[in-house]
Amino acid sequence: KQYVSRICCVGAGYVGGPTAAVIAYHNPDILVTVVDKNEERIRRWNSKHLPIYEPGLAEIVRIARDGSKGFRLPNEPAENDNADSRTPHGAYNRRNGPYSTEKHVHYRIPNLIFSDKVSESISAADIVLIAVNTPTKSRGVGAGSATDMTAFEAVTKEVARHAMPGAIIVEKSTVPCRTAEFIQKTVSWQLLSPKSLREEEPGQLMTSQMTNQRPGVYFEILSNPEFLSAGTAVKDLMHPDRILIGSSKTPSGLRAADTLARIYEAWVPRSRIIKTNVYSSELAKLVANSMLAQRISSINSISAICEKTGADVSEIAESIGCDPRIGDKFLKAGIGFGGSCFKKDILSLVYLAESLGLDEVGEYWRQVVKMNEYQRDRFSRRVIQRLNNTLAGKKITLLGYAFKANTSDTRESPAFEIIKTFLEEGPRQIAVYDPCCNPEVVKTEIKQLLKDRTALEEDGGPIAIHPNVYNACDHSDAILITTEFDEFRSTPAESNESHPSSQSSRLVDPRPFYDQPSPMDIFLLQKYLLSTAPAGRYPNDDPFKRYLPEPGCPSSCPDCSL
Ligand code: NAD
Repeated sequence: KQYVSRICCVGAGYVGGPTAAVIAYHNPDILVTVVDKNEERIRRWNSKHLPIYEPGLAEIVRIARDGSKGFRLPNEPAENDNADSRTPHGAYNRRNGPYSTEKHVHYRIPNLIFSDKVSESISAADIVLIAVNTPTKSRGVGAGSATDMTAFEAVTKEVARHAMPGAIIVEKSTVPCRTAEFIQKTVSWQLLSPKSLREEEPGQLMTSQMTNQRPGVYFEILSNPEFLSAGTAVKDLMHPDRILIGSSKTPSGLRAADTLARIYEAWVPRSRIIKTNVYSSELAKLVANSMLAQRISSINSISAICEKTGADVSEIAESIGCDPRIGDKFLKAGIGFGGSCFKKDILSLVYLAESLGLDEVGEYWRQVVKMNEYQRDRFSRRVIQRLNNTLAGKKITLLGYAFKANTSDTRESPAFEIIKTFLEEGPRQIAVYDPCCNPEVVKTEIKQLLKDRTALEEDGGPIAIHPNVYNACDHSDAILITTEFDEFRSTPAESNESHPSSQSSRLVDPRPFYDQPSPMDIFLLQKYLLSTAPAGRYPNDDPFKRYLPEPGCPSSCPDCSL
């Protein structure tokens, strides 16, 4: 049984940060360090304003990172706040969890650290989780579909140089099938038999991979893909429907899988921990995302038929969803999927199929991506059509910039592509508002993506990113709901005047629009929001904001003023 006292997670992004926080939260006797080469990101993880928004994340991070300073038991006096250092590290009581009220374990020791000291943290860890980004390659062989393994490979080399002999290396990132083999070659010094030496190409032993190895050092490689969804990351991590651990079938491989499984068993029922061979685990992640995306493209393709025939796609979804073989999840027609994962993972599957000579299989999956783009473009075209085929001199408002609700993740956001299409039409203004995204971050991103320094309103362009929903909608010719935030859906009756910033404050009732038979109309609300703005709130109080000041944050806080 391998004892684990330190875990290092490389990559403090949307997966690494929340995953490490939940592991630390449930394993208070293990020190979890999250490292990233991006110093600004680490600074934000160490501040009150985390670099990403996920419901419940701030609370979990605060408890694990700050110990008892991060929370207070009900009725606990404030003066206990600084007393956590008095409690020995092992004092955590598993029966009562981190909220133990037993006399001698009142305080929780911080066990989650965010740091930019990558190699130092790797060298101290019993388990190294690699959770760095693996985007689609943008140039070279396989550009547009193969996975760009630059960041992953760089970390693998760091691990090969610095990890403790016998440390367990875990692929958390989504990687192409057979990556474990590549890591194994990079990190482990294996004694090659004369036969296997003969099988190597001449000169291969001197590849850069070998220069990272240390004689006699061997690591086990596990695949443990992450299935969390943006917007519900904490819920998904706290109550996963499965934990997948792929390992080699050797005794030491199985032992390593057991060691990792024990970390999860702190809060996940054993029956939900599935152990497979390492390549099945790698491929299962790609297949899971591809199948989910395929469902969205399937229902979206049906919505196009509905619009021409008078059938109602939501009624169809409801009817077919009753069949347990189909199920009722992921059947909502809309403007197509976004996010950093679906598209890249399908394309990775396409590349894998094509590189194995399975062109028909590749083409089949590629069609899912094509249908997604078709649906999004169909929506933009429909909006332009409804506005008399011209946007010249008009103001269009997009409510929602994140790729889905309850997240600040904007990667591959359909809203951005829609903005790009509208720009061609020369509108007076494209106003954008998002309750979770920081306006300054959105501005920087749009400028970078458009490669246009004059696209934003302050630089003379038409795109205005509003921190306030009322200003965004003021005098708009069309208001489009581009992200399904609940805020854009509920009734004015629910509005709570006494707490202008509470999430129960509501602005409008767009339900009549949601009930339109066509999914395209769902997103088209004309000059409606502003007329129902509650008196006295416009223009300064915005009930929707979720990213801005923490209670008690000083006005000089650099992150509040972002
Ligand atoms: P991300 O871009 O948010 O975070 C990756 C982090 O890794 C960045 O902060 C980057 O600075 C850091 N990094 C890159 N190279 C590094 C290096 N050499 N040393 C140290 N740090 C380095 O990415 P993400 O969304 O967290 O995704 C990570 C992986 O998880 C990807 O493979 C993705 O496919 C997979 N995944 C993502 C999600 C999701 O919802 N975002 C869900 C499941 C799986």
